[in-house]
Amino acid sequence: MLTIIKNANVLAPRALGTCDVVICDGRIAAIDTDISLSANNLDIEIIDAQKSYLVPGFVDSLVHITGGGGEGGFNTRTPEITIKDAVYAGVTSMVGALGTDVSTRKLGDLYGKAKALTQDGISCFMYTGSYHVPVETLMGNIRDDIVFIDPIIGVGEIAISDHRGSTPSARELARIAGESRVGGMISGKSGIVSIHVGSGEEYLDLLHEAVAISEVPISQFYPTHTSRSETLLQRSIEFARLGGTIDFTASTSEQILEMGEIRASEALATALDAGVSPERLTISSDAQGSLPSFDNEGILKGLQIGRINSIHEEFALAVNEYKVPIEKALTAVTRNPASILGLKRKGNISQGRDADILLLNPEDLSIESVMAKGSWLLRDNKLVLKTPFINE
Ligand code: ZN
Repeated sequence: MLTIIKNANVLAPRALGTCDVVICDGRIAAIDTDISLSANNLDIEIIDAQKSYLVPGFVDSLVHITGGGGEGGFNTRTPEITIKDAVYAGVTSMVGALGTDVSTRKLGDLYGKAKALTQDGISCFMYTGSYHVPVETLMGNIRDDIVFIDPIIGVGEIAISDHRGSTPSARELARIAGESRVGGMISGKSGIVSIHVGSGEEYLDLLHEAVAISEVPISQFYPTHTSRSETLLQRSIEFARLGGTIDFTASTSEQILEMGEIRASEALATALDAGVSPERLTISSDAQGSLPSFDNEGILKGLQIGRINSIHEEFALAVNEYKVPIEKALTAVTRNPASILGLKRKGNISQGRDADILLLNPEDLSIESVMAKGSWLLRDNKLVLKTPFINE
C-alpha cells in the first residue's frame, strides 16, 4: 500500500514549502511538488493535507516508560506510560530510562516495555543503568549491553549534583563514558551518556572535569534538566558553546517554576539569543518521572508526575509565545535528539527515512494526525491505533 499526502507545508525541519510526500513500506519514498501516481493494481491512499504542516514525529530522549518516582515512599511510585499518551503527544520515538529507584524497578521491565511500545507501533529505545554508580546492567557491563541488546543505545540517566545520586567521581564518569562510547562504536549506535543534573551547586563541573582528565569528547555527555535554575542554565549555555548538547525538560509545575526553574520553551529562546548553535539544543518530556520538590533540608514537600504531551506544549509555546522560529523549535524536538541519540532513520522528513510524520494545524500547531513507521495512529484527532488492548 502506498500513501500520498498532498499539499502539505513540509518542515523537514527545514522549510521545504508545499510538497507531496509518498510513503511506501514504512518509509518516505519521495518528496516533490505535485506527484501523481497511477497504476491499475496498486492500492493508493491519497490524502489532502490542505496546507497543514507536515513535520517529523517528535523524538523524546527521556521517558520513564515503566514509571519513576518513589522518593516519598512506595505509594509515590509513578505509573508507566501508555501508547495512547505518546500518540496524542506526537511522540513517535522515545528513549526509556530508570531513575532514582532501581531497587523495585529493574532493567528487564524497561526492556519489556520498550519492546511492547515498539510492537504497538512507535519506536522505543532505552538506556542501560539508572541514576546510580556503579552502573547496574543486564549483560554484566555497559559495553556489552549496548553491543548485544537491540533497544539499548546508551547509558543513563546518571545523576550528578543531586542528593539522590551516588556522587560519582570524575574518573568514574569518564570510565562510564569510555565504555559506553566503545559499545556504541562497535555496534553503530551513539553510546550516549544521559546525565541527570540535580539542583546541587556543582552544576556541570564534574562533566568538565571528566572531559579534562580523559580523551572522551564533551559530546559523549548529554545533560538534562539544564534549565532547573538561572545559574544552571547559564553554565549549560557555556557547556553547549564548548560543543556539548544540552537538554531542557518540558515537564514542570507551577511550584517548580516558582522555585526558579526556567520553562523549556523560554530556556530554548534564551540559549538561542545567547548565540548557542540551534544544533546543540533539545527538549525532552521526562514523562512519568516524578516532579518532586524538596525543602532546604532535602525533605520532600510535594510530588507531581511528568507528562509526555509537555514536549508538544513547550514546542508550541516556544513558537507562539517566545517567538522562536518554527524550524529552530522543531529541530529541538526532532532532528537534534535523533542525531545525538544516533537514530539515523528518525527526526527528518527525507527520502529513505522512517515515515514518522505529524500533521499540525498551521493556526495553533495542534496535532491533527500521527503516522509512525508508515501506519496512521491518529487521523484527524481520532485514535486509529490498534494494539491487543485497543482494537475497537
Ligand atoms: Zn532526571
